[in-house]
Amino acid sequence: MLNVYALCGGLIDLDRSGFFCDVAPGTRMTVPVICFLIAHPRGNVLVDTGVHRQALTDPVGRLGEGRASRFRLRSKPSDEVVSQLALLDLAPDDIRYVVNSHFHFDHCGGNEFFPRSTFLVQRPEMDAARQVLAGAQMRYSPSPIDFDLPLDYQLIDGEHDVFGDGQVVLLPTYGHTPGHQSVRVRSGKGTDFVLTADACYTRETMDRDVLPNTLWDPAEMSRSLARLREYRDRQGATVVYGHDAAQWQELRRAPAPL
Ligand SMILES: [Zn+2]
Repeated sequence: MLNVYALCGGLIDLDRSGFFCDVAPGTRMTVPVICFLIAHPRGNVLVDTGVHRQALTDPVGRLGEGRASRFRLRSKPSDEVVSQLALLDLAPDDIRYVVNSHFHFDHCGGNEFFPRSTFLVQRPEMDAARQVLAGAQMRYSPSPIDFDLPLDYQLIDGEHDVFGDGQVVLLPTYGHTPGHQSVRVRSGKGTDFVLTADACYTRETMDRDVLPNTLWDPAEMSRSLARLREYRDRQGATVVYGHDAAQWQELRRAPAPL
């Protein structure tokens, strides 16, 4: 039986207008950063690595002034990926694959702690991130301090069945960033979980079909969001949204499985 666990990779206080393009600035909210551990018989898969623990003690040093002023960390010291894995009696070396949904700071902050894992990243995400490093484009803002490390990155083109058995499938959901991906997990008895990451911040994003202001490609993101909605509304999948505070309150978290 395959189990999925929700891990707290940080808590961030931000302005609601950052999530919804039709909301005026001025209202703050605190949202979770979620990582997942998928315990597959042939290896553990970690989905995203959250915010780096240094961001709590030295936000400007870790995130830079711009991000540190827009996003305030509300995490406890244990709200970071290595401490969360310990709740499951796992250490970084127990992780076979790390999936990065994308290279924003709150999704790849803990990458450095997994030097023995294979990272699965969509090729357009890595291509765009490398262009940023080369100064060839500035519209996308990945977090080089977090991803630009000597790690074993394996580049994926589109949909990818991690173990070849249909249980853990990476879904290209481009648009939020050039190569964003989500994950579908089939956990026993026909229960499907779709872990959207930032292809869909919250339930409200999906229900109102409202995009954020800051994104890579609105048309592409809209199409990705529509595909995720189909999983929820036509195929009966349980969707776990990227940063939904209300859903997080109800979600079973590690060490309990989802
Ligand atoms: Zn995010």
